Amino acid sequence: MTVTLGTPLTPHATRAMLLGSGELGKEVALELVRLGVEVIAVDRYAGAPAMQVAHRARVVDMLDPGALREVIDVERPHVIIPEIEAIATDVLAAVEGAGLATVIPTARATILTMDREGIRRLAAEELGLPTSPYRFVDTRDGLVAAVAELGMPVVVKPVMSSSGKGQSVIRTAADVDAAWTYAVEGGRAEGSRIIVEGFVDFDYEITQLTVRHAGGTTFLPPVGHTQVDGDYRESWQPQPMSEAALAESRRIAGAVTGELGGRGVFGVELFVRGDEVIFSEVSPRPHDTGLVTLASQDLSEFALHARAVLGLPVPEVMALGPAASCAVLAEGTGIPVFSGVDDALAAPGTDLRLFGKPRVDGRRRVAVTVARGEDVDEARAKARASAAALRVALAEG
Ligand code: AMP
Repeated sequence: MTVTLGTPLTPHATRAMLLGSGELGKEVALELVRLGVEVIAVDRYAGAPAMQVAHRARVVDMLDPGALREVIDVERPHVIIPEIEAIATDVLAAVEGAGLATVIPTARATILTMDREGIRRLAAEELGLPTSPYRFVDTRDGLVAAVAELGMPVVVKPVMSSSGKGQSVIRTAADVDAAWTYAVEGGRAEGSRIIVEGFVDFDYEITQLTVRHAGGTTFLPPVGHTQVDGDYRESWQPQPMSEAALAESRRIAGAVTGELGGRGVFGVELFVRGDEVIFSEVSPRPHDTGLVTLASQDLSEFALHARAVLGLPVPEVMALGPAASCAVLAEGTGIPVFSGVDDALAAPGTDLRLFGKPRVDGRRRVAVTVARGEDVDEARAKARASAAALRVALAEG
């Protein structure tokens, strides 16, 4: 098959629409722009990171089916690349069904991963993959009953949320009320449906980045990571694993991504305890913990996503050596202003991304540092030192 790519801003452009324009979308946009693709970046607010590097930016409430359909009809993208879950996915199904655009990876995958329930039921109940025990509840009484059935500790999460919003652990009965209130307030969509999961006492957790592309399926070396309050702080690659655990990770990742289908990068999140591997969730798109691939591979997860969605080859990925990433967070209100950028970049093998988020209100990730080292420990230390050297002030304006 011959892949044809046009020239941006002409009648012969190959157009890609990003639904969600955060820091991960920004890297995908940059890779697409390198290949001469015309990029339209969509988000709820103006000045989002990917909008700053795209050919056009459109401010749209992506949960509004009419508004989403209109922007697709006007822009006529060839590929639609979701970067977030909170999208009116029925519109994507209609667009895909009518053959108007390719939805990455598939419209069905965006529907199934839109909330935690669809993907959990698919993985556990249809594919029979190992997961934590779980219940879905809509009321405080339901939560109390689920805690009694599963036994403490349990993890409570809104079915629609990310970056740890609304997520907490119930360790004693005294935690139930706070967990309920936090989950209801932290959920993204209307309603208060939450998942209650048995706490998995894992040895470590990984993201198994998996690329579905024209030539098959590629599993990248496992990415280890640490999370605080359900939000990623550090990641590294490769995570040392037993052969059995690695094989089981790939079996699970292959099963779930094969079921979702389509083309692109998937981040399959797994808990590992000895040789046992437990499926947690999957993002049908590049994953935040995969930012480490900016340093660890010749083709980052973003470059691989761009290639896969365009139907281009994904040959064997070259590992550049052990590497790590460290998230930089800002808390407060204002416009991020970075100092110490020179110090943060002083060590060899160190790099960073300043996301260009126009404003912080609360706690937000605003940058990431990445580093290569002799081994993962050295890479982690370098990425952390680089992040510590970077100072973020929040300016008025
Ligand atoms: P999630 O948003 O589901 O990816 O959860 C974010 C993080 O919370 C995970 O990466 C884990 O570190 C932790 N976590 C989530 N679910 C569980 C669980 N059932 N048991 C233990 N830790 C969990």
